Formats: sequence, C-alpha cells, structure tokens
Amino acid sequence: MANITVCARFRPLTSKERRDRGDSVCVERIDDEAFTLKDEKEGEMKFSFDKVFYDDSRQDDVYSFLARPIVRDVVNAINGTIITYGQTGAGKTYSMEGPSILECDDAKKGLLARVVDGVFREITSADSIKYIIKLSMVEIYMEKVRDLLDLSKDHIQIKETKSQGILLPEVTELSLSDTADALRSLSSGICNRAVGETQMNVASSRSHCIYIFSVHQESTNQTRTYGKLILVDLAGSEKVEKTGAEGRVLEEAKTINKSLSALGNVVHALTCGPNVKGNHVPYRNSKLTRILQDSLGGNSQMALLCCCSPSPSNVSETLSTLRFGARAKHIKASPRVHCTRDKHAKTLETSFPSEDESHDKVT
Ligand code: ADP
Ligand code: MG
Repeated sequence: MANITVCARFRPLTSKERRDRGDSVCVERIDDEAFTLKDEKEGEMKFSFDKVFYDDSRQDDVYSFLARPIVRDVVNAINGTIITYGQTGAGKTYSMEGPSILECDDAKKGLLARVVDGVFREITSADSIKYIIKLSMVEIYMEKVRDLLDLSKDHIQIKETKSQGILLPEVTELSLSDTADALRSLSSGICNRAVGETQMNVASSRSHCIYIFSVHQESTNQTRTYGKLILVDLAGSEKVEKTGAEGRVLEEAKTINKSLSALGNVVHALTCGPNVKGNHVPYRNSKLTRILQDSLGGNSQMALLCCCSPSPSNVSETLSTLRFGARAKHIKASPRVHCTRDKHAKTLETSFPSEDESHDKVT
C-alpha cells in the first residue's frame, strides 16, 4: 500500500502582505521537497513533503506532479481524488480553477482545465474503446449538499451501496463531449457557488466545492470499466476569530470549521494505527467526510495540495495547514480497478454504476 501524495504550495506575497510586513517571508527553501518555517513563537521547524511548490512554481508543475498520474489512472478505471486545503486566500481556488475557469492564458490554467484536457487526450489515444465522460458538481454549504448544475436540488442525499460505495443518486450528471464543452459546464456550475465576503479575502468561497468526473468505458470485448475522479476545493481552514465574522458569516465559519475538524478527525483515525478505539473512523460526522469516505478509506489514489501564504502575518494558519498535511501523509491508499465483463457477468471488483444494489443506506 502506498501513501497518498502530499504537496505544499506557497503563493507569492500579496500587495497587502507586502504593505503589512514588507518582503519578509516565513518560509526558507531547502530544496524541492523540504523547507524551514520560521515562527516567532515556535521557532524554526523543518517540513518535508513529496514536492514543495514555491512562489515561482508554474500551474503546469503542479498538474504534472500531482494530477497527471491520477488522470492517467482514472482512464484505466482507478479512482482518484485531488484536494486543495488551506486558509482563505492561500491559493486553493487559484490552483484548482486558475484566475478563472475560462482563463485563456495557457500558463495560468488551473488543475481543472488541465485535468479535463488530460482526460480527453487520454481517451482519444485509445482505439476500439467507447468512452462516456460525465460531470457532477456539488457544494457543501452549511452542511447541505447543493447541486451546482441544478440549484433546485438543494438537499442532495448521500447513499452507500456495497458494490459502488458512496453515491449521490439524485445529482445531475452532464455528459461532456470535449474540453470546451466541459469548461462551459464547469463555468456555469462555478457561477452558482455561495460566495461571501470576509476580511481574509473579498471573494472567498464559504463552501466546499466538489467536482466529480466519471469515466465509463466499454471495449470491444464487452469489458466495461468505470473510474471516478473527484476534485475538492475546500473552504478556508482559518480560525473563526481571524475571519472577523458575525451573524450569518460567523455561522458559516463555524460550520466550515466543524466539517474541517471532522476531516481532521477522520485523518487522525486513519493514521493512528489499529489500537485507537477499535479504529472506528467517524466518516458520518460531516457531509464532507461522508462524500470523501471512499477516497479517504483507500479505494482511490489521492493527492493533497496544502496551500499556504508565505507571509509572517499568516504563519500560525500556515503551520496548522502544514501539520494537517504532515498527518495526512500517513494515509495509505490501495485503489482497485472497477471492472465488469459484461452486463450480466459476475462483478469482478465493483459493478458498473447502472446496476442496482439491495443493501443501500441513505445518510
Ligand atoms: P483561496 O481559494 O485559498 O481562498 P485564492 O486561490 O482565491 O485563495 O487566492 C487568493 C489570491 O491570491 C487570488 O487573488 C489569487 O489570484 C492569488 N494567488 C493565489 N495563488 C497564486 C499563485 N500561485 N500565483 C499567483 N497568484 C496567486
Ligand atoms: Mg477559494
């Protein structure tokens, strides 16, 4: 079993950070995998990750290291999950979407556009296989799962089946014909996100956004396979006090913190060995962990991008992001291939999604 991939990314200083603290930064590069973090209170700490992207990193570097291997495998029916984590303003959405999902400058395109392009490239190079690519998009806002491709579905149920694991049965699934079509659909979903204003970032998203691509394929010998690629742009992980929030915004911040704590607790349970409380993993404590249950539980390749500000003014949030990443690095993954011989054949690992299951549970 391999460990999941965990990377850290430091964005450039913002003009506000420069005004507040000049050019000083709290991070000192050692190499591409390690750095020292300087905190006035805690001193100097060394961190190592699978890869560290500094302020001079390119969007393509992040895609190539973190996402390209996962994209290749999803076309071979191995699930993949890519998560961006960090405080508000740390670069999660920039890494995921780029400055905009319809960004024209190739160099600035984010993971989503590159993933979509990568999936379509992979499938066109494979002859004699029929593919269907589908997209669903949901956000978890105030512990409700909303369908971003159909806002009338504002309380999507989460279901678990023995063969297919976690499902969102009512969610809209759009068939995508090519990269341009996919980007248009992503753009309309992104416009529907709940965006609020906090002191941290004027356009910060107050919800977790989850993009689900499913890749169905059928080869000439009737073998059908299915891979799912989940991308998650999490809401900000900063402490509630730092947001200057009150009223509705305070409630949002508390709900976000609760679900990120639930994520932290799941990671803790998964990485603490078998002795802790019979190793019960509390996936059901939040919608976020429930939806990510299969990914976190091991049946998925997984990559986590810990997004950080390099400014000393944000060092305590950066430290908490890096500690989360260091802990998550101990998660093991052993993804399986999802394959059936034909419609009536015995399931090898997990069935094709159209087949029904009798042991369904609804959350
Ligand atoms: P988050 O989604 O974590 O709240 P954003 O991705 O919205 O943060 O980033 C906050 C600001 O920093 C945005 O203006 C964004 O364009 C900028 N930014 C983030 N990462 C980078 C980067 N690697 N290079 C250049 N600008 C970045
Ligand atoms: Mg964001």
